[in-house]
Amino acid sequence: MSRGEAFCVACGAGPPHSGDRLCEGCFRERNTLSECDETSQAYRCPKCGMNFESGRWGYLESEDLLQRRLDDSLRIHDRGDAVGIATHHETIDERNIRIHVQVDGQIDAFHFEEQHEVIVRTSNMICTTCTRKDGNYYEATMQIRSAGRKLEENELEELRGSLDTLLASMEPDPMFFITKEGPVVGGWDVTMGSKSLARTWARHMIQRWGGQTKETHSVIGQKDGIEVTRLTVLYRRPGYDLGDVLRWRKRLWIVGAWLKDGPILLALNRHEKTGASWRDLEKAVVMSRFIEQVEVDILNRDASAAEFMNPQDYKMQTVRLPYDDDGTRLRLRLGWITDEWVALPRVRNPDEGHVPRGG
Ligand SMILES: [Zn+2]
Ligand SMILES: [Zn+2]
Repeated sequence: MSRGEAFCVACGAGPPHSGDRLCEGCFRERNTLSECDETSQAYRCPKCGMNFESGRWGYLESEDLLQRRLDDSLRIHDRGDAVGIATHHETIDERNIRIHVQVDGQIDAFHFEEQHEVIVRTSNMICTTCTRKDGNYYEATMQIRSAGRKLEENELEELRGSLDTLLASMEPDPMFFITKEGPVVGGWDVTMGSKSLARTWARHMIQRWGGQTKETHSVIGQKDGIEVTRLTVLYRRPGYDLGDVLRWRKRLWIVGAWLKDGPILLALNRHEKTGASWRDLEKAVVMSRFIEQVEVDILNRDASAAEFMNPQDYKMQTVRLPYDDDGTRLRLRLGWITDEWVALPRVRNPDEGHVPRGG
């Protein structure tokens, strides 16, 4: 003592000592490097297979699930250093997996090697998504219609297909499910679990096919003092597409781009563009649909006209060049308007948003 030699605070033994001045024997009596629960509880939805972890539902690989259960069950000493953890697991049955755990590392001057076993037990719990699907739950209805006409089968298919494309590009969300869908007079209805999905889809369709939406909310009840509402989004696709030729105010125009309030129209016969509202165009007549237009090779040309082979009867024919012809074009896009082929100016203009390919 007089020489100031360190001693164990518990039994008086000499060094080596831990940071809190215990000899090895006393330290090991009071400390372990790790502690582990004997069992760990996991939950899985028997209907869809999602796991409930960290307070939320999601799909987990079995390895990830076991790692999370282990992280939850195993605790390492605060002063543990250079800790190594090795595991392997064995399946006991459908619901039980045993994880063997080996832990080694240092606390202060002392080396530890420990072993544990934890059984991960998986119980059934129906997830929120399946509960809601079963209860016919939905938050939003999308009504797909056209302005002023019936949607054709292929249009319905591409509109509905855009929801699948959209879902594939989004972060998965348990509320992104479809409760019910099917044809109705003049269109297609889809009920779904998420209002935000309905709104995102509506924006997506507007960007691609133009048109407008109208939202209505209905109160369906109360939950914890808060009104529970449902959203109905009515989407009206215009009766025309990008690249279509329209007759409007006695002139011919090409639909060039979609803006919020209506399309941008490009004159067919000269460099001129104008905006029109959805309402303005309710009376417009589609003279040539983009999908029915054809591309032909220019076989001969002079300053104002070009020769091409008529795709209808394979005869040589002459057509007036479009106003934007620069004398070097090898191909022309033609629309059958009233009763003749008309060469169309290019409508591609990156400043004006999305326009069809080849247009
Ligand atoms: Zn001691
Ligand atoms: Zn489920």
